[in-house]
Order: sequence, then C-alpha cells, then structure tokens
Amino acid sequence: MNSVRENGDRRSGHGPGGRHVVVIGGSLAGLLAAHVLAGHAERVTVVERDRYPDGPLPRPGTPQSRHPHVLLEGGQRALESLLPGFIAELRAAGSPPVGMPADIAQWQSGRWFRRTPASTHIYTGSRAQIEHLVRQRVVANPAITVTEGTDVVGLLGEASRVRGVLLRDRADGAHAQRQPLEADLVVDASGRGTKAPQWLTAIGARPPHEETIDTGLAYATRVYRDRNKALGAETLAYYVLPNPSQVYGGGVLPLEDGTYMVTLSGLRGDEPPTSDEEFAAYAKRLPHPLVHRWLSEAEPLGPASGFRQTANVRRRYDLHGPRPAGFLATGDAVCTFNPIYGQGMAVAALSAVALRDVLDDKRRTPTTRRVQRALLAASRQAWDISAGADKKMPGASGNAAAVRAADRAAGWYLRRVQERYPGDPELGRVFRSVLTLTKPLTALFAPAVARTVLFSPPGQTPVEPPLTREGPAA
Ligand SMILES: Cc1cc2nc3c(=O)[nH]c(=O)nc-3n(C[C@H](O)[C@H](O)[C@H](O)COP(=O)(O)OP(=O)(O)OC[C@H]3O[C@@H](n4cnc5c(N)ncnc54)[C@H](O)[C@@H]3O)c2cc1C
Repeated sequence: MNSVRENGDRRSGHGPGGRHVVVIGGSLAGLLAAHVLAGHAERVTVVERDRYPDGPLPRPGTPQSRHPHVLLEGGQRALESLLPGFIAELRAAGSPPVGMPADIAQWQSGRWFRRTPASTHIYTGSRAQIEHLVRQRVVANPAITVTEGTDVVGLLGEASRVRGVLLRDRADGAHAQRQPLEADLVVDASGRGTKAPQWLTAIGARPPHEETIDTGLAYATRVYRDRNKALGAETLAYYVLPNPSQVYGGGVLPLEDGTYMVTLSGLRGDEPPTSDEEFAAYAKRLPHPLVHRWLSEAEPLGPASGFRQTANVRRRYDLHGPRPAGFLATGDAVCTFNPIYGQGMAVAALSAVALRDVLDDKRRTPTTRRVQRALLAASRQAWDISAGADKKMPGASGNAAAVRAADRAAGWYLRRVQERYPGDPELGRVFRSVLTLTKPLTALFAPAVARTVLFSPPGQTPVEPPLTREGPAA
C-alpha cells in the first residue's frame, strides 16, 4: 500500500495516509480527494458541515451554487478520468454543452467574436447538479463515510505532525462538546473560507504564506425564463467579459431545466445590486444593450443573489520550511480564483488527478511535501491566467498584485492575442485550449502561433452581436 509519509520518512509501515484519512469538507474537492485516497487507506471519513440535500440543490456551505458554474474541458477530462462515464451522466442529466465560439454571442476587448465552428464545449448546467452526480458516485464506495452536519473546529497534533481533527456536531449548537477524531492523514478541502492556517498556528505549526490579488469583483445572479425565445434558434448563451478598460461583465447561460442563469458583475464601489428593480437596470452599463434587452423580455423566476468574496488567494503549503506531516490541502483551500475565469471545479478535479498520480508513482515516496507540490502544480496554470489578468484590472489590491517586468512583457503579447483571437479561428482554437486548461500556456508561443500574434493584423470581427453560427453547424 502506498501512503503519504512524513517528509523524508522512508520507513516502511503505516505512514499518515495509511489507515484512516479525514477529509474536511464534502464538496467537489473533498469528495474527489476522498475517492482517490480510498484506494490508499483503509477508510476515509469526510466531515461536512452541511446535511446534503436529497437532490441537486444549493446548500448553505456552498453559497456559490446560486451563481453560474461553467465546467471547462480540462475539468471534464479530469472528471472523466476519475469517474469514467461521468460526462455521459452529466449530459443525460441535461447539462447543456455550449460550443465555443459557435453557440454563443461573446464580446471581449471591444470586439464581438466570430461564431466559427466550436473548438471546445463548456457545460453550463448548475454546480449543484455536478456536485450531486459526483457525490452519488463517491459515497457509494464502502471505504468512504460522510459525517454530515458536523464542523471541524481545530486540529489534533503538534508542530511536526497533525494527528486528527476536533469535531463539533452542529445540531448541539455553539457550546457543544468538541470530539476528537484521530487520523493518519488530514486533508483540508474546506474551500475559500478555510480556517486551517489558524488551526495550524494553534497546534504550534507554521501557517502557509498567502498570496492575494483582489479586484473587488462582485457578482449578482438571477434565474430567468426566456419566454419569447429571444435568444433565437442558434444562440445558446450571451457572454460579455470585463477587461481593464471595460470593467462590467454579463452572462446569460442555460441550465439543465431550460431556464437561464443571468449574472452581472462589476468592481468594488459599483457592485451589481440584488434588488428586483435595480438588477436589470445595471445591465445598461454593459457595452452593448443585448443583455439588457433580453432581460426586459424574460421572466424572472426568483430573487437575485450576490457574491463579493472573489479574490485570488494561493496558500503556499508547498514552499520550503517546517511543515507538519499528516496534513494536506486541496481545492479552493489551496488556491481559489476570481470566478469570472470559471476554473475552480476544473482545478479541484485536476488536483484529484495529480493526487492519484503522485500516490500511484511507485518510484518515489509520496512525502507530504511532494504531494502538496503536485497539488499546487495542478492549479498553477489557472493561477497564472487569473492572477495575470487580474493584476491589470483597475484597483487590484493584495500582496501579489504588483505588476513585474516579466508581467509587462507577457501582458504585451497576450494583449495582441486577445485583439486577434475573436476574429481568427485557428488562434482562437489555441487560446481557448489554454484557457480551458487542456493545453499549457507555452502553446501560445509555438512558432506558427507567435507568427500570427506578432506579424498579422487583427482579422475582421462582427460589428453587431452575431446571432447565427458561421460555417458548418458545430
Ligand atoms: C461566484 C462563484 C462562481 C464560480 N464559478 C465557477 C465556474 O464557473 N466554474 C468553475 O469551475 N468554478 C467556479 N467557481 C469555483 C467553484 O465553486 C469551486 O472551486 C468548487 O466548488 C470547488 O471548491 P471546493 O470543493 O474546494 O470548496 P467548496 O465548494 O467551497 O466547498 C467547501 C466545503 O467545505 C465545507 N466546510 C467548510 N468549512 C467546514 C468545516 N469547518 N467543517 C466541515 N465542513 C466544512 C462546506 O460546507 C463545503 O461543503 C465559482 C466560485 C464562486 C464563488
């Protein structure tokens, strides 16, 4: 049996991944980590604060579920490799595959995109449904137990080793007794609000260095019915993306039940409102009246919800320095992104693949540090994309927000890519494969791509939002 061992500890026998693993948080990252770890431990206990709903519904512990969640192709491939047949299940459950750029009227950097045949598809069904399908598959494993309705409130152990968690049953209220639960390995998957840095400090261990870039982006989202079929027969979605000179965003994205999630975004100081009267009016700030026009004909199906904590935060558990054995972090608890780039679920799945691969590697001992490095590496490209773009947004703050000389050179090149890809199907294919996490960033610097970026003028793009596909249907 392969097990996550103490840093540098090559003794045989039970390492901290050996017998009992506790995963904090039973959302996407936690469930997928549990799925992988069940192959390397005798039992895995997932401790989840919420009680799961019976079906694919939002729950209090994942308030982001009320906002659109696109599943990028990199995440689709990772989920399929972890849970074979998953994408067929997602399709069967109705999650709409939206072909990019064929099926969508998309605006960015002052241009409408040509709707040439799709080079990739994103799934735009609800996050609750994706989590529900993952949960059904993962909890069917008899080696995995979920302890619902229970908070982790601290860690057991000392500076050199984490030995378990402290639990509090939510049904017993804030003054309930704390119960210890011992573990050979504890995995933090408690999301962007993780308290693990404070818990590590409390047992005398060093918390991770944190890098933050915050644009102050805020979302407001409301579900609508397209009662007049105003999107048209060939258009599945609208998408207006912000950039440094136009900071408002808007999306109309289809859900599995035939309704649409509409999200408006803006920056700190001019956040989108959630009141019924003001929500649709805010769409007038977008650079084109398309979304506002659609909203005034569509039927709202409930109140709008807001979301404001959207900073990019990376916790560097991978860096040199004393780290306790028996503790790992994954998903948003390690690296959380500005949601506008739609990356977090894909990175949760890619992290589980990285965990599987590093534990399966028979040539190397999976020390805590080695595994944590693999987990960080799984999020690196997504971080480079969102951090790189967000540094340029007006008012970006945080200890990692400074623009360095290397950022300026990359920024100059990427600006040329962005000016050209809406009108160039081939450059669009390459750039989308990077953005959807199926090709490395270096694909943008391949000789043929660099020639286009450096020497070709931007191609023609539509003057008005294109409402039909171009060329053969996707
Ligand atoms: C507004 C918004 C929009 C987004 N849009 C996209 C998108 O389009 N595409 C995409 O791929 N990603 C998107 N994301 C990111 C995505 O939601 C997350 O990356 C994804 O859910 C994986 O997160 P996670 O499992 O690490 O954490 P979470 O999903 O946040 O789950 C953390 C879990 O831990 C539990 N928990 C927390 N603390 C404790 C505790 N002390 N004890 C026990 N349980 C605890 C919570 O109840 C929850 O179940 C978006 C995020 C936001 C905020």
